[in-house]
Amino acid sequence: MAIPFLKEMRIGGYMLKQKLLGRKRYPLVLMLEPLFRCNLACAGCGKIDYPDAILNRRMTAQECWDAADECGAPMVAIPGGEPLIHKEIGEIVRGLVARKKFVSLCTNALLLEKKLDLFEPSPYLFFSVHLDGMRDHHDKSVSQKGVFDRAVSAIKAAKARGFAVNVNATIFDGHAAEDIAKFLDFTSELGVGVSMSPGYAYERAPDQEHFLNRTKTKRLFRDVFALGKGKKWNFMHSGLFLDFLAGNQEFECTPWGMPARNIFGWQKPCYLLGEGYAKTFKELMDTTEWDSYGTGKYEKCANCMAHCGYEPTAANTAFSHPFKALAVALRGIRTKGPMAPEIDLSKQRPAQYVFSEQVQKKLSEIRRDETLAAQQKASTAA
Ligand code: SF4
Ligand code: SF4
Repeated sequence: MAIPFLKEMRIGGYMLKQKLLGRKRYPLVLMLEPLFRCNLACAGCGKIDYPDAILNRRMTAQECWDAADECGAPMVAIPGGEPLIHKEIGEIVRGLVARKKFVSLCTNALLLEKKLDLFEPSPYLFFSVHLDGMRDHHDKSVSQKGVFDRAVSAIKAAKARGFAVNVNATIFDGHAAEDIAKFLDFTSELGVGVSMSPGYAYERAPDQEHFLNRTKTKRLFRDVFALGKGKKWNFMHSGLFLDFLAGNQEFECTPWGMPARNIFGWQKPCYLLGEGYAKTFKELMDTTEWDSYGTGKYEKCANCMAHCGYEPTAANTAFSHPFKALAVALRGIRTKGPMAPEIDLSKQRPAQYVFSEQVQKKLSEIRRDETLAAQQKASTAA
């Protein structure tokens, strides 16, 4: 997640406050998913494989604002689905900006140019455009030709209107380091910052063959960073997280650092894994068995190096051990030499498969709500 200077100041102040209050676990970024419906169907997406009754559900603007207030994180990322499909998205963002939340609106940009009038440029708002690589690579990744060109056109239009724009790239196995480096050069020419994350192996994604394991992730990022020596790629990540991607840090996941709220409720334990839902943020924090998640603890976490689990770890480390962060800032990302020891996977608990049960439960709730609404309508009419 992007944390430029103004944000760093605010987030540093927020973290200091949490430490002074003695809080062991606190959120940095709310991952707000107001809908799962999308206008693309990417091969590596694990967010859109739901029946229509669920894809048609939306969080209301009030529910989104309540989630931000309840959670208290200084930043709100709005992924999805495609948030620009949500009819109240302009209002949702306005309400969050009015609360002085740093808002990252994640979009595939197909609707961005058309919907720019819904938003006003603000130091609290930036668009994070999904772009996985150069034209052929990206269009293949999103399973549709022409998307890269439309996204680039939308980025230019948004920048011309004074909006802050970044791109977010998900990296899969088979993406050559040289091609990623060319893509990063291109983002520099476009004048946008970049966030990158290795794709998490979603169990519901159509393409299960191209997720990176941790060893391949670290080798690939080392190769990319080696190609970037002397270049000024503008990463929207802390140096420590990048150093972790290159295999130089022994981090454990911090799943509560980026809690996720969607139409099901507060998702346990993180944005990537839906193993249960809580009705309130407090219930999420109090009832999730945090120690049962993370690499080495749970099979579904075995290959994860995603930013939503490990960027908060990097932020906490930078806060608690500023010299460690300074050392990385001074020496740069190390791309040679031995890597930090890998987490032992021999004691992880096996995966549990709860997706169908959760979907059935939600569908029953939707049917019950529809029946109640119909009964109320009938009694009002009578
Ligand atoms: S654009 Fe995002 S939400 Fe939509 S299908 Fe692709 S990865 Fe999924
Ligand atoms: S390692 Fe952490 S962020 Fe990754 S899936 Fe597991 S709990 Fe979520």
